[in-house]
Amino acid sequence: RDLVSPDAEGDERAIESALRPKRLAEFIGQTRVREQLSLVLESALRRDRPPDHVLMSGSPGLGKTTLAMIIAAELGMPLRLTSGPALERAGDLAAILSTLSEGEVLFIDEIHRMSRPAEEMLYLAMEDFRVDIVVGKGPGATAIPLEIAPFTLVGATTRAGLLPAPLRDRFGFVAHMDFYDVEELEQVLRRSAGLLALRLPEEAAHEIARRSRGTPRIANRLLRRVRDFAEVRTDGVITRDIASAALNLYEVDAEGLDRLDRAVLGALLRKFGGGPVGLSTLAVAVGEEPETVEVVAEPFLVRQGLLARTPRGRVATAAAWSHLGLTPPPDAFG
Ligand code: ADP
Repeated sequence: RDLVSPDAEGDERAIESALRPKRLAEFIGQTRVREQLSLVLESALRRDRPPDHVLMSGSPGLGKTTLAMIIAAELGMPLRLTSGPALERAGDLAAILSTLSEGEVLFIDEIHRMSRPAEEMLYLAMEDFRVDIVVGKGPGATAIPLEIAPFTLVGATTRAGLLPAPLRDRFGFVAHMDFYDVEELEQVLRRSAGLLALRLPEEAAHEIARRSRGTPRIANRLLRRVRDFAEVRTDGVITRDIASAALNLYEVDAEGLDRLDRAVLGALLRKFGGGPVGLSTLAVAVGEEPETVEVVAEPFLVRQGLLARTPRGRVATAAAWSHLGLTPPPDAFG
């Protein structure tokens, strides 16, 4: 997936880290999460103890990694980064846990994709700051308990519901990250424009923000594409018309829907008469993995009021028909 994919790829990572807010006060939006988190951190600092483990849930690109880095920075502690898929064996996790320094922040991205054995090891580590190293096999196997330094786990997941309850329950604080509104994205864009030394008029920022799928990562990416367009096609000055023309070129529509979003909606309307249809059937119809449809496209479509998840399957709303310029069948909302 391309321009509007919420995942960061390649070169983008370097630019992203340059654009990352470093402290909580610089972090835009997510007011409630920020307030809650600042309390958690402040009280930990006062007690001089590592704070409770933190779980962050939300769509890709909403700032989970950024917040993990901020947590470490605010605590003045080092940060170790890993991800669920990298923790295939319990030993992978043990290697990390046993080398943590006291108070270190361990960030596990996509924590819902950790293997079972690693997950079980993590339970004990989170609770008792201990791991059991199993030596030997069969009836002769023994577990040697190993103490580890008290640390703070920050886990990130695209959906808190994907986590097994015993893991979820071991987090003292769960932060639900929401999509950003247009005004917040304008702030993100203004900040990034400043860091990239770009002049970004207000109406242009508004146009880009409106089409950024509620996601700072996408806002920053679209800003760079608009900049490219302005440099190549005009004298480099970004205006609203330039922004709009650039975004049309990249197939981001006026509501910020990208190709995948429109493909999902289009299939739902044209092939399944607006639903209800099951997730996997819908995914096959657009040639994507069910997880991609569920994690990448659906949360935004739901948030825009275009799609509903019901017990019987996915259903298009009246707004979806009008967004794609189609007429619903007469009995559709009867
Ligand atoms: P996630 O881990 O949720 O996928 P990231 O933390 O990697 O998302 O954020 C993606 C990019 O979006 C970062 O480069 C960062 O610059 C930007 N970003 C995210 N949240 C904010 C925010 N609240 N304020 C400013 N920039 C943000």
